[in-house]
Amino acid sequence: MLPTDFIFWRKSMRPTVIIGNWKMYKTVEETVKFLKEFAPTVQKADVTIGLAVPFTAIQAAAEEVKGSSILIGGQNMNDANDGAFTGEISVIMLKEAGAGFVILGHSERRHIFGEDDAFINRKVKRALEGKLQPILCIGETLTEREAKQTEEVLKRQLEESLADITVEQLKTLWIAYEPVWAIGTGKSASPDQAHDAHKFCRKVIEDKWGSDTAEAVVIQYGGSVKPENAKALLELTDIDGVLVGGASLSPESFSKIVHYQNIENYQTIK
Ligand code: PEP
Repeated sequence: MLPTDFIFWRKSMRPTVIIGNWKMYKTVEETVKFLKEFAPTVQKADVTIGLAVPFTAIQAAAEEVKGSSILIGGQNMNDANDGAFTGEISVIMLKEAGAGFVILGHSERRHIFGEDDAFINRKVKRALEGKLQPILCIGETLTEREAKQTEEVLKRQLEESLADITVEQLKTLWIAYEPVWAIGTGKSASPDQAHDAHKFCRKVIEDKWGSDTAEAVVIQYGGSVKPENAKALLELTDIDGVLVGGASLSPESFSKIVHYQNIENYQTIK
């Protein structure tokens, strides 16, 4: 067993990454209004903050947050740099618009749009090659959890989505563990359930790519995170951040999550 001090030190070496995923919500006007209200409340926060906004709002959002440390990102991208792919967007286009990261393999992309691990793997490689920070999403469905297949699913998704990626690239990766049954349902995984899954993911990475890689990788939790449960999740040693859907749409609730450490004093610290 590793000493507790060492486990906490190891966690403190990784950034805490708090990302909002707006899905198909907010126009450019609504995005700018949100940021004018939200940005001043998180100026002093010492966590990495990002918002994955709709493609149409990336440029205006990036302009609005200039001079702050808030990152703006995309919610998806294609694995090609260009081509006859109607409706798709490339890493080059996202970066040109001002994106600093991109969410890949979100469960809505996997389950509604049929994306598989091989396609997601090509996207992760393309994002890394294009120097755009990827957030790789993985997670089991309720049926898989009930059939006790959670670990098998996570292992497969990690190994297939991360195939042929160098150890140096892997160390820079952000992974989001998002149990599908907890996304948009209001039903979050308990801190213990989330922590067990995070520890398992880190072990899979350690077994395949070594302990240095496993210790460097940021693993976020996503699935009905709100101001009320953020602290209990983020205090756990293997949870390095959160990916927040619904609760990132309100400047106040997202700001409260950013200030999870001091949420009791939120009115005085923001
Ligand atoms: C998500 O969109 O990745 C997500 C976790 O959504 P929610 O927080 O609404 O469950």
